[in-house]
Amino acid sequence: MATGFYFDERCLWHTTGEHVIIAPVGGYLQPPTGSGHAENPETKRRLKNLVEVSGLGDHLSWKKAPPVSRADMERVHDRKYLDEFKRLSDAGGGNAGFYSPFGPGSFEIAAVSAGLVSAAVSDVYHRRVDNAYVVSRPPGHHCLPDASMGFCLLANIPIALERLRAEQGPVRVAVVDWDVHHGNGTETIFYDRDDTLTISLHQENCFPPDQGRADARGKGKGEGYNLNIPLLPGGGDQAYRDAFSLLVKPALERFRPDMIVVASGLDANAFDPLARMQAHSETFRAMAGDLKTLAGRICNGRLLAAHEGGYSEGYVPFCGLAVIETFAGHRTPVKDPFLDILSQQQPPADFIAYQRARLEAQARALGF
Ligand SMILES: [Zn+2]
Repeated sequence: MATGFYFDERCLWHTTGEHVIIAPVGGYLQPPTGSGHAENPETKRRLKNLVEVSGLGDHLSWKKAPPVSRADMERVHDRKYLDEFKRLSDAGGGNAGFYSPFGPGSFEIAAVSAGLVSAAVSDVYHRRVDNAYVVSRPPGHHCLPDASMGFCLLANIPIALERLRAEQGPVRVAVVDWDVHHGNGTETIFYDRDDTLTISLHQENCFPPDQGRADARGKGKGEGYNLNIPLLPGGGDQAYRDAFSLLVKPALERFRPDMIVVASGLDANAFDPLARMQAHSETFRAMAGDLKTLAGRICNGRLLAAHEGGYSEGYVPFCGLAVIETFAGHRTPVKDPFLDILSQQQPPADFIAYQRARLEAQARALGF
């Protein structure tokens, strides 16, 4: 077996229209000369290219998958939303929610993106691959049952998990969302469920700005099965290491999932235009390593990551490579050319101590 690498060129043909960062062109916004919208294909294309050029691709099992069906989508999404998304997509594009523009054919491409995640979930569950990384777009973790949001058009991970459960019966899954933005879509979909532990590490008050508070713990049967870990802007590498040791790992040990699924946004890195967390490739390598070790101990190694955000064309590939190298257990000769400077651009000790004290207080409140 090997690490499964799930990729489909069609995912890179999803378009987000003429924007500057996240704002549509018009008025005083000069049209872009380059990629324009932050969520464009280049970050993912360059990650896939680095996987090939580095030689890591020779150690992976490359996979494609059929798109998810309408029935798969309907386990998570309202029919009305799907109808509207499909209608606009057929008509040449539009926006069926908040901050989520798309072009012609994006409905079918979103089905491919969710299909790749669904195949990876199934393959990892049935141990057909050691573990898996999915490079797909559009992303999924902000998408709500009845609206698209934050560049996310279908809830890729929930669709995949609900299909697995429809086929297999009950499966306990922990979703660890290390995208720098709050995983509000995944949280919403599983908020009253005790079979899915949703953990989101995110920059506090980033996006959505009014969500992701630590006191949002789930409701009803799901009370205690949602864990938000808001981190201070500028927290850097140590904020993530402390959050993992104080909260993420104890929560996973307590929950004992059958499988761990990472919502792998790579936008906590220091170059990202849409956040301010100052992490770097070794942050992602460390988090991936922690989860691989833990999955080996508590869930028969069942671990996969589905790509979410990450908007620095130049740096996302090195963060993604670190994760996939770790999953595959193969270190390529590639050295992160930015690591030296980013390692020095970290917060001072008193800031780190303050951030750590906040995390310790949260861990104490949870009895860890
Ligand atoms: Zn993000």
